[in-house]
Amino acid sequence: MLGTDNVGKSALTVRFLTRRFIGEYGDIESIYSHNVIVDGKEIAFGIWDSPYSQERLSESSAQEKQTQWADGFVLVYSICDRASFNAVAKLVQRVRAARDCAGAERTPIVIVGNKRDLHHRRTVTSEEGRLLALTTDCQFYEVSAAENYHGVLMVFHGLADRIREARSAA
Ligand code: GDP
Repeated sequence: MLGTDNVGKSALTVRFLTRRFIGEYGDIESIYSHNVIVDGKEIAFGIWDSPYSQERLSESSAQEKQTQWADGFVLVYSICDRASFNAVAKLVQRVRAARDCAGAERTPIVIVGNKRDLHHRRTVTSEEGRLLALTTDCQFYEVSAAENYHGVLMVFHGLADRIREARSAA
């Protein structure tokens, strides 16, 4: 899970793991394990939810560790926070530069515009999110961790599908 602070990375993770939205989440770095059945097959998820820190991200060893660890990425912004959207645009480039090799299947990335329930405070349009995903070969969902469990499920199941496809193509 990558993205700036307060965009809902922990809320999305906890919603997926427990079905609940609890409102406040600590700034604790956590790696969660969770087994779910998707389309009749058991999938083991390991989700790394880390607090965002610019200093940490500019440290190359931390960057390297984060980007090499995962089979796929959920890049989260808030539809009410343009700076968080700009940060996701940079994160896509960072992940692609670190992970993608010429001729190989691209690393699965899902871009998520969260806090859809706060549409009256929206500053990033759905089209902007969709266009970013289209031009960077990512999946895109707009969701509300607070109000729509089904949307959150689609994010993680969609990523699992892409990882499976990438593996079978390798
Ligand atoms: P993180 O720093 O990216 O992990 O963000 P958090 O998951 O800690 O969420 C930051 C704040 O946004 C918390 O107060 C959450 O309750 C709130 N939040 C997260 N997702 C949503 C959402 O979908 N809708 C609304 N209204 N608030 C949300």
